[in-house]
Amino acid sequence: MNPQRPPYQPPHRPPQRKLTREEWMRRQEYLRRKKQQQLHRRLAILTFAALFVILTVVLISVALHRSGQQTSLDTNETTLSPQTDPENTGTPVQTTAPQTTAPPTISDKITICIDPGHGYDDPGATTEYLGDYTEKDITLSIGLKLRDLLLARGYSVVMTHDTNDIPDDAPVGEQYLFGLAKRTAYANQTDAVFYLSIHGDTFEDSSVQGSRVYFQSITGEDNTAITRLAQNFVDALTLALPDAPKAPLLKEMPDDSAYYVLRNVTMPAVLVEIGFASNPTDAANMLDDAWQQKIAEALADGIDRGFAK
Ligand SMILES: [Zn+2]
Repeated sequence: MNPQRPPYQPPHRPPQRKLTREEWMRRQEYLRRKKQQQLHRRLAILTFAALFVILTVVLISVALHRSGQQTSLDTNETTLSPQTDPENTGTPVQTTAPQTTAPPTISDKITICIDPGHGYDDPGATTEYLGDYTEKDITLSIGLKLRDLLLARGYSVVMTHDTNDIPDDAPVGEQYLFGLAKRTAYANQTDAVFYLSIHGDTFEDSSVQGSRVYFQSITGEDNTAITRLAQNFVDALTLALPDAPKAPLLKEMPDDSAYYVLRNVTMPAVLVEIGFASNPTDAANMLDDAWQQKIAEALADGIDRGFAK
């Protein structure tokens, strides 16, 4: 052992003083307050969470209620005056009983409005090549095929009419039971984001054929979006009918010269003339179920190009 080495000294610690009673009480009071504060904070968070949940439930209920109201139809609409035929065929115009084909939905599905041209007591185009059939039979058939395709692709669909059977309670002798004004007003009160009207064309020269896609442009406005939407249908029809003798055409209707439905719906709208009922080849196609299915698929593709998520 080295005698020079200093003896071991423990590290210095201040002497521990016992708390006085007063200090101990103060400390207990401090701890009690701290606990109380924590409890208040937790209560505040819980209250906020509960309020948030209640608010969310209320908002969803309101949305549900509104959605139900939107799809209910006004059955007291006044009788409509005759409209001009959108196809310049000189024949009386569309008849429609607005009907929903899909129940009201609160989902985030995109709603498309399908308008099969003419219907009920308005046959639309009648030609020797269509025989006993008329334009209204073809547009409704394609419209229903398109509806099924769109529903399968996850869209919500409303139709201006899904039957040509005149309801029993329709006013007797009234020629324009379900006119254009009624069908556009109906579309405007749905949550549809796009309106597609399906028609067949006629022309005095029976050699004229092919499909045409119409849209309305507005002077002085940016018409890029609606032009693009209409072009989508031209592209889809071109792809669907590669052997068509006449390529589908894009037709711009400026301002007041547009078709009634294009002018009067409050959403983007396109009108497709699928072919000429006055042309023997087109008319034969229009009556062919497989061709109608092809057209319906092209129209669904056109909608997908513009609206698929
Ligand atoms: Zn028509």
